[in-house]
Amino acid sequence: MKKYPLIALLCLTICTCQSQEKSPFLYTAFTGATLIDGHGGAPIVNGVLVIQNGRIVSIGTRDQVKIPEKAKIIDASGKTIVPGLINAHGHVGDVQGIEGGHYSAQNVRDNLAIYERYGITSVVSLGGDQPEAEPLRAVHADSHSNPPNARLYIAGEVITGQTPAEALTVVEKNHRMGVDFMKIRVDDNLGSSPKMLEAVYRAVIRRSHELGYKIATHMYYLDDARKLLEAGTDMLAHSVRDLPVDEAFVKLLQQKKVPYCPTLTRELSAFVYGDTASFFSDPYFLKEYDQKTIAPLLNPARQQQIRQSKAARIYKQQLPTAMANLKTLSDAGVPIVFGTDSGVPTRFIGYFEHLELEMMAEAGLSPMQILQSATKNAAEYMGLKNVGTLSPGNYADFLILDADPLADIRNLRKISSVYSLRLRSL
Ligand SMILES: [Zn+2]
Repeated sequence: MKKYPLIALLCLTICTCQSQEKSPFLYTAFTGATLIDGHGGAPIVNGVLVIQNGRIVSIGTRDQVKIPEKAKIIDASGKTIVPGLINAHGHVGDVQGIEGGHYSAQNVRDNLAIYERYGITSVVSLGGDQPEAEPLRAVHADSHSNPPNARLYIAGEVITGQTPAEALTVVEKNHRMGVDFMKIRVDDNLGSSPKMLEAVYRAVIRRSHELGYKIATHMYYLDDARKLLEAGTDMLAHSVRDLPVDEAFVKLLQQKKVPYCPTLTRELSAFVYGDTASFFSDPYFLKEYDQKTIAPLLNPARQQQIRQSKAARIYKQQLPTAMANLKTLSDAGVPIVFGTDSGVPTRFIGYFEHLELEMMAEAGLSPMQILQSATKNAAEYMGLKNVGTLSPGNYADFLILDADPLADIRNLRKISSVYSLRLRSL
């Protein structure tokens, strides 16, 4: 029980602080719940989670944690508490209904509110971010009088260019704007557009690292993913979809410890609207998205066009490859980070995250592995500070669930409350 000394220390700190404060409730203690702290160990049954000023003060069993005197006690018996989910690849601010091109600070805020209502308390927006998003970044949340609903990390403009000089102009522009990540795109869109050249992405990666940024990469082909790892990318932001990953690639990923973000729902969105998507009648979808929003996707001509699209057919055919690759890489201990590429038209924010969780389960990952990918792994491998686990000192970002997600990942839908930033409850 390594936790005891730390808890003892925390109790001392609590007692010291308490004597100096005057408010009737300095702390909030959630008692009786099963706590899944995100570290991957056995859940804490009949746990106690104490928070203060939006931070976790202590966590443990009833016997381990001394509840401070001036604590408001919330009985959470029968519930399960998990860290707030982290989407390591989303987008914000651009879409209204199913149409892009509506970027505004208000839309960023609205999108972050939807993410939060679905239990996603941190979002890494990998591109398409405009200067309006900068003040809403997670780094400003503590001092913000009106913080947004989910923590936001941005990548600015997706870096493109035919020459190193052209691409580096975008790197500098993002740097001036104030971003958390850089993002490049190395893809020919199934042969329909020019792909970023190796000399260009090598220059971008080098400069981004000089400036202190991690660099996330949109890729599609196994061969590109390998070259990008060799060139020093810090994240593969999609699945390898063209071929099964080979042993050399698995070894390279293991050695580099670069996170791999499957975004299986990205493929789904390429073909699912060829028919009427079954989730259009799911109340969990309809709680945020109405008939008016989905009406264009019910248009028979549009559906037929998708059914006849060659690209849609290829993406559909290659989804099983992506799922098999996810299982292979997860089994090999490669860090999997949860992400969806939601927030572009027809990839519905919040709901798609829950579809992704289910598709990861379909690919063969256990509920604990999936939960880890969306909490600890996402925070650790993306370098997001103070989120991802229920640990003393971390932000009190967590979900109170009515059912156990380790029994069925779909139980992550059964959110009774979300706590994050301003400690709101649904
Ligand atoms: Zn994306």
